[in-house]
Amino acid sequence: MRVKDLKWTINYTSRGNPTIEIVLELDSGATGRFASPAGASRGRLEAPPYPEGGLTAALKILREFREDVVGREFESQKEFDVYLSEYDGTGNYSRIGSVVSLGCSVAFAEAAAKEDGVPMFLWLSKGTASGYPLPLGNVLGGGKHSRGRSIDIQEILVFPSRISSYREGYDALIEVHKKVGKLLIQRDPGFTGGKNDEGAWTTNLSDEDALSLVSDAVDQVSSELGVKLALGIDAAASTLYDEATNSYFYRRRNRYLDREQQINYMLELIDKFGIKYVEDPVEENDYAGFSIINREAGRRSLIVGDDIFVTNVSRIKLGIEDKAANAVIIKPNQVGDLTKTLDAVMEAGLGGLKIVVSHRSGETVFPHLAHIAIAAGAILFKCGVVGGERIVKHMELMRLEEELGGLKPATFNL
Ligand code: PEP
Ligand code: MG
Repeated sequence: MRVKDLKWTINYTSRGNPTIEIVLELDSGATGRFASPAGASRGRLEAPPYPEGGLTAALKILREFREDVVGREFESQKEFDVYLSEYDGTGNYSRIGSVVSLGCSVAFAEAAAKEDGVPMFLWLSKGTASGYPLPLGNVLGGGKHSRGRSIDIQEILVFPSRISSYREGYDALIEVHKKVGKLLIQRDPGFTGGKNDEGAWTTNLSDEDALSLVSDAVDQVSSELGVKLALGIDAAASTLYDEATNSYFYRRRNRYLDREQQINYMLELIDKFGIKYVEDPVEENDYAGFSIINREAGRRSLIVGDDIFVTNVSRIKLGIEDKAANAVIIKPNQVGDLTKTLDAVMEAGLGGLKIVVSHRSGETVFPHLAHIAIAAGAILFKCGVVGGERIVKHMELMRLEEELGGLKPATFNL
């Protein structure tokens, strides 16, 4: 596959911030097009989105990169991504930035898959992927995604544990989202109908009242639709963490929890609400704290590392050694290309971790993440519930299931 041309334009994330849409064309005429999303509660060790100098510097680098890449031939995704990484030369894309690197990597994958005549998930999995994940969506949110004006826990999430089609699961998430909106009108006098960066409702309720409300919505929708639904949270604890005092600040209660209290609080919430999915319960460097929670609750809940792992093979290896988690969040732009992303998936899988492929809070209107989730063999696809930039990805997954046939849903057994 020879690169015939590389073009770009400025596109926008769902927060209205600029990102770069990359268009890569192969000699055959096959093209791929992708624009990277952007996180707000980013792990400290993520690949930087932009080089020093920001967007202007990234565009200058792209002009130079175009001179280098046009006319080159690549046999595989890995060959392209290794070339990209060597062109960057820093090991974590800090020279060219992950917006450029992931944009090029995904655009190449889409073009190469088209040239091969297969869907992108088959190109990425070398023809092996045969299952699809369960949808996992944020229905009530706070933290950085709500400018600190809602609950302190970043996300209250819902997912079905068993489905017969992706649409069945997704429709159930939509119903829960609607039900949560209705219950907020009843229980939160100050509710304005406001939603946050990921389309999750915002509220003046306390974290626990919010959890109890979502739990009621889950029970009601489960019995109305006959779909078994479970509750999850992303505490995004690094965003609550105060390094100076080694404690966690809960603004709504105006209260600091020390490390031990934070661990106990997470364990209490798991028990009180029957939570089956807990992401980032402690801050990103506290592998030992993660391990305590995983040891105490890992048999009845997924304990999921996001900021602690940042889709990075060596961080995941450490986590497996320490038994810090039983699942990992995979976000391609944390690491900057698809080969590094799939290497992280492979490492996690070898260590027995479940895979959760995730959107970012600032998403773009591209569907490719659905293919990455299938190729990764994910058990869960964390991609919000409403908002066009999220729906486009859920819809891609539904179309792949409905049009291709042969793909089987994952099941959740805890
Ligand atoms: C998350 O923390 O899981 C998340 C999606 O947030 P962001 O994209 O803002 O980092
Ligand atoms: Mg997270």
